[in-house]
Amino acid sequence: MSTIDLNPDTTTDDAVTELPTVPHWINGAAYPSTSGRVGDVYDPALGVVTKHVALADKAEIEAAIASAAAAFPAWRDTSLAKRQTIMFKFRQLLDDRKGELAEIITSEHGKVVSDALGEISRGQEVAEFATGLAHHLKGEFSEQVSTGIDVYSTKQPLGVVGIISPFNFPAMVPSWFFPIAIAAGNAVVLKPSEKDPSAANWLAELWKEAGLPDGIFTVLHGDKEAVDGLLTHPEVKSISFVGSTPIARYVYETGTQHGKRVQALGGAKNHMLVLPDADLDLVADAAINSGFGSAGERCMAISVVVAVEPVADPLIAKITERMAKLRTGDGRRGCDMGPLVTKVHRDKVASYIEIAEEDGATIVVDGRDVVPDGDPNGFWLGPTLIDSMPTSSRAYTEEIFGPVLAIVRVSTYEEGVKLINDGAFGNGTAIFTNDGGAARRFQNEIQVGMIGINVPIPVPVATFSFGGWKASLFGDTKAHGAEGVRFFTQQKAITSRWLDPSHGGINLGFPQND
Ligand code: NAD
Repeated sequence: MSTIDLNPDTTTDDAVTELPTVPHWINGAAYPSTSGRVGDVYDPALGVVTKHVALADKAEIEAAIASAAAAFPAWRDTSLAKRQTIMFKFRQLLDDRKGELAEIITSEHGKVVSDALGEISRGQEVAEFATGLAHHLKGEFSEQVSTGIDVYSTKQPLGVVGIISPFNFPAMVPSWFFPIAIAAGNAVVLKPSEKDPSAANWLAELWKEAGLPDGIFTVLHGDKEAVDGLLTHPEVKSISFVGSTPIARYVYETGTQHGKRVQALGGAKNHMLVLPDADLDLVADAAINSGFGSAGERCMAISVVVAVEPVADPLIAKITERMAKLRTGDGRRGCDMGPLVTKVHRDKVASYIEIAEEDGATIVVDGRDVVPDGDPNGFWLGPTLIDSMPTSSRAYTEEIFGPVLAIVRVSTYEEGVKLINDGAFGNGTAIFTNDGGAARRFQNEIQVGMIGINVPIPVPVATFSFGGWKASLFGDTKAHGAEGVRFFTQQKAITSRWLDPSHGGINLGFPQND
């Protein structure tokens, strides 16, 4: 397979023609931008623009959706056996070549290569789930519900389905949706984040190599214009969105107003509750891994440790000891943590450290002082630990989405649970304890969609469904697992009579079973 198909001739501005432009992928081939609208794509560890990405206009949106709509009927009618063969091939190619994809992700997102490989593996799990989709697409059958009458149900694909994804998991988040959507017989139009667009094109090429018909996996690059195009187009039957809460709310409201089925996963502020009987070495490792992995740019990152006293002081000592050993730098150099995705985002995250300080918190470790193992122009911010975070501070109430871990001290389990339940978000949470009864009580009482018990990033495996509560999910269907199958199919119930000729003649009364 070739590397990403880059088109250097898509812009009119002399200054930008020197850099390649990531094209759309429409009807099974690279589709150079006709609009000339492009966005910048950075290498965050170098701090420079390395390429551009096409930003779709109306004509490109139409071309993408029209190609998917034209390809859909034949794919819908392709046998399950043939669809499954392609799914197996795709999964095998992904497994064989994931190293290539990881390097692409690191060069545009900044996360370290091992972490990029990790996200690909979690996405691959969904492709593996989809290789068995023939089983999940089975309907139900009831014989003789009335004399000579059988009732059965079937699950059919929706048609053209839209996926709109965030920057932080350019491979995994789209993979939560497209393997199931495709195996179920739909045609996918993926609108990836414009910050790290190339992973989507790489996946599109892989699908082609696996034998997927042209038009069934389309990549439409762009910004709000492309998103609005998908949300309002009558040919698009559903939207699967993942991103920040304000945009998730907008996507849910706009998509449903236009008659679409919408699942919109939003932002997060995940708390880890530490009870006094917890193993503090385990907790410190978990806090570091989940707080600073991927520079905190994970929707399941732990951003607040709720320490039930007297654990805060000994726990802070163990966390800071570990933080001193973390190496922040270029993700291609074997570092623990990479840069943030853009300068704007780095500055925004750093501003929250300032806000916390002004609001009276104690900065225990200040990531603004980091000396990175990388280019000085990279978008660096080191791991930061903040103690005694006031819960009235914007640094506590708002999602930071960076390597900033806050400690909030509480006196009791009940106080900790109330704090978590009072929060606006409900994506993930964790409890660390050796008391099974306390953990069981927590899983029952906590108002959050995904819970870890002595597990800091409780991301369910692909056979279960992924999604939070409250401002972390709009709509009533989560990603992948049984809910994913339900989202990407619509049911028909068929009532059938064949052999009994006596239908009772004319009778305008409501049919009764006999
Ligand atoms: P974002 O909301 O800025 O962007 C997400 C998508 O929406 C992108 O494709 C982007 O192009 C598009 N978009 C951005 N602004 C838009 C606008 N005004 N109108 C229409 N479309 C718009 O999110 P991000 O910064 O790319 O990703 C980080 C966010 O995603 C965080 O809030 C994180 O918590 C969240 N996230 C949530 C989950 C989850 O499962 N709940 C998973 C991953 C990321």
